[in-house]
Amino acid sequence: MRYPTPLLTLIRELSRLPGIGPKSAQRLAFHLFNQPTEEVLSLARALEEAKTGLARCPRCAHVMATGERACDVCLDPDRDGGLLCVVEQPADVLAIERSGEYTGRYHVLHGALSPMHGLGPEQLTITSLLERLEGVREVVLATSTTVEGEATALYLAQRLESSGVSVTRIAYGLPVGGDLEYADEVTLGRAMTHRRPV
Ligand SMILES: [Zn+2]
Repeated sequence: MRYPTPLLTLIRELSRLPGIGPKSAQRLAFHLFNQPTEEVLSLARALEEAKTGLARCPRCAHVMATGERACDVCLDPDRDGGLLCVVEQPADVLAIERSGEYTGRYHVLHGALSPMHGLGPEQLTITSLLERLEGVREVVLATSTTVEGEATALYLAQRLESSGVSVTRIAYGLPVGGDLEYADEVTLGRAMTHRRPV
């Protein structure tokens, strides 16, 4: 038999999410079908608000509430404006913040260079990074240690070479091929403290 169209639509939409294959999508769809209406509507509202209520910070591209001038880190006057840490994802900002070892500001690329997935420099926030180097003395490249993350760090180091800004890379103790977001705070804190010139 064929599934009813609303169910097929739900399965298709769920299977677009990262890490969700067709089987997981089907399991989630049936789970939602069996939940009370109010709970499902509450999830739907949360999804909608997460999209309409959140925006990219105009300075660093981290997430912020819609309508704000900038994100919390950019608005914090106690942050060291001479230190700029480049990460792939907003979740990486939160991971580095948890380590408590970093006092500068951030720049979120929203991805890493990946020609295979059609992600080139223009798909990332690299132009806005190069435009905000005034007053910056050090750029810390904290992209992940995956092939894409390393390629991105290398590319950025080359682009930043002529700027006169010192460029460092975190590496110490981080597992090769790992996403920053999954590193524990002690390892990440040490990686930040022992960053090295590129
Ligand atoms: Zn910001």
